Amino acid sequence: MITTYIGLGSNLGDSRQILADAVQKLATLGQVRVSHLYQSPPMGPQDQPNYYNAVAELITDLAPLDLLDRLQAFEQEAGRVRLRHWGERTLDLDLLIYGDKRIQNERLTVPHVGVLERDFVLLPLLDLNAEMQLNGKTLKNLDIVKQSTLTVLDRTNWANL
Ligand code: ATP
Ligand code: MG
Ligand code: MG
Repeated sequence: MITTYIGLGSNLGDSRQILADAVQKLATLGQVRVSHLYQSPPMGPQDQPNYYNAVAELITDLAPLDLLDRLQAFEQEAGRVRLRHWGERTLDLDLLIYGDKRIQNERLTVPHVGVLERDFVLLPLLDLNAEMQLNGKTLKNLDIVKQSTLTVLDRTNWANL
């Protein structure tokens, strides 16, 4: 069993429901815990709605590429359409962390490249593990974490787990 962390994002459609449904789907792959639910301003193009964000911890037997296949299938089921880079989407599921494994191939970079630079990933990770470390850094001590103005929308039960 490997402990993995999945980043969830949505800014099209009923984002709260889409993220809750995604968490239910993740729960079919293993044991799941979820962070608080957050709202964040868009990265990249600014002419798009704010995002709903969360992180799920998933303890699973799936191999990394098999897990990515499942995540991409869930994105498709949520009606994800590729419009523009970092553009609006119904559902984004990123494999942030896969145990302590480092993976680099044409489909997968793990840990995900954005983890240390994105408060909408770091704060939810810290909900799940307040002492988490990555690349030798203690996440709670990062400046971006201390300075974050991320909005918490919901603390508990938002995904009906
Ligand atoms: P970002 O990855 O910067 O958050 P994004 O989530 O909008 O941007 P996507 O369009 O969802 O990017 O994914 C583009 C490609 O990234 C996918 O086809 C996938 O193969 C690749 N990829 C590489 N590493 C990962 C990862 N750790 N998790 C998910 N996808 C990944
Ligand atoms: Mg992403
Ligand atoms: Mg993605």
